Amino acid sequence: MTDLYARHRAVLPDWLALYYKDPLEITHGEGRHVWDADGRKYLDFFGGILTTMTAHALPEVTKAVTEQAGRILHSSTLYLNRPMVELAERIAQLSGIPDARVFFTTSGTEANDTALLLATTYRRSNQILAMRNSYHGRSFSAVGITGNRGWSPTSLSPLQTLYVHGGVRTRGPFAHLSDADFIAACVEDLKDLLGHTRPPAALIAEPIQGVGGFTSPPDGLYAAFRTVLREHGILWISDEVQTGWGRTGDHFWGWQAHGASGPPDILTFAKGIGNGMSIGGVVARADVMNCLDANSISTFGGTQITMAAGLANLTYLLEHDLQGNARRVGGLLIERLRAVAAPLPVVREVRGRGLMIGVELVRPGTDEANPDAASAVLEAARAGRLLVGKGGGHNTSVLRIAPPLTLTVAEAEEGAAILERALSSVQ
Ligand code: PMP
Repeated sequence: MTDLYARHRAVLPDWLALYYKDPLEITHGEGRHVWDADGRKYLDFFGGILTTMTAHALPEVTKAVTEQAGRILHSSTLYLNRPMVELAERIAQLSGIPDARVFFTTSGTEANDTALLLATTYRRSNQILAMRNSYHGRSFSAVGITGNRGWSPTSLSPLQTLYVHGGVRTRGPFAHLSDADFIAACVEDLKDLLGHTRPPAALIAEPIQGVGGFTSPPDGLYAAFRTVLREHGILWISDEVQTGWGRTGDHFWGWQAHGASGPPDILTFAKGIGNGMSIGGVVARADVMNCLDANSISTFGGTQITMAAGLANLTYLLEHDLQGNARRVGGLLIERLRAVAAPLPVVREVRGRGLMIGVELVRPGTDEANPDAASAVLEAARAGRLLVGKGGGHNTSVLRIAPPLTLTVAEAEEGAAILERALSSVQ
């Protein structure tokens, strides 16, 4: 055990999840690469969703942050804040929500917490519909709507939550159905739930489940749900913490794959938008955002320094069409990984969209989750100098691949070759 790991263990909580038997200390990054404390260089196939949407140490972001730091880090949201207004304008316009209002927070958890505050206040109900296998954060309210029990560390909750089928297409009681029948079955399930309760405040859903293992329903599920929700006045909250900003290649937001009946009432975002700076936020229809009964403020939501980073990062993303890059390079990577996986019985499925790719592992010859293989592949990939993530239900057996959106074709090829060796080593 390294000295730092021993000190970590002695002072930080046991439940603070750490990757790798010999945990990694990353000391710097550049582009799609990071370096550890011993100077070893890794290709980063996970940081894109964790923190770094575009690239590590993106010069445009570094410059904006340095310039802002030379002026002031933050001046309190009790005063007018130019970068906050500018970023809010850009996000409101991109959100697809008409007459949108934006509130900045410091994390995805706090963004979802705010969305719940708005929805429950607007609807005067503390009942929430959430998806099975979902993840929405770590606050008291967010764990209460997190269907993934491995990440829901208490069974107590200020909310009453009803869990809905549909977030996972490939497992569960409806998995054998065609896409259209799957959607119809999930809609029936939702109607059945609603028949037994007073109308809940909102449905919250990740368009593609992140921590849950990059699983998604067929396109159109949430549009079909929306029709039912509208009949009851129930709001739709789309948690875009992982799916936003063009990551899925085909769309800027994940909800757009389900947009036939219009944008969500509330959208939440976080993670990569600040490229490592802590920015989260909520976008909502004006009447929903403005429904609160009294003042509400976040001291560190929307600091000038984080907003400067977010503006520079978003500008780079749009000017360099990184959504298009996610579609092109992600498409190639999925194809390449499917070819790698075809002869390997430990791989059940390679799935994904853009640069959000999941590789689900099973015990060969069965349909059983294989968390041991997932851990072994993670270690083997690290030894080959590639970082990937893990996820997927209670038995984390899905490799999660979500590189910074500037990933090149050559880097995609290099990462796929390392993964091929890592996957083959656990046969
Ligand atoms: N929602 C989703 C979909 C997430 O993946 C996460 C983080 N994994 C969160 C919310 C919580 O975000 P944070 O960790 O910034 O609080």
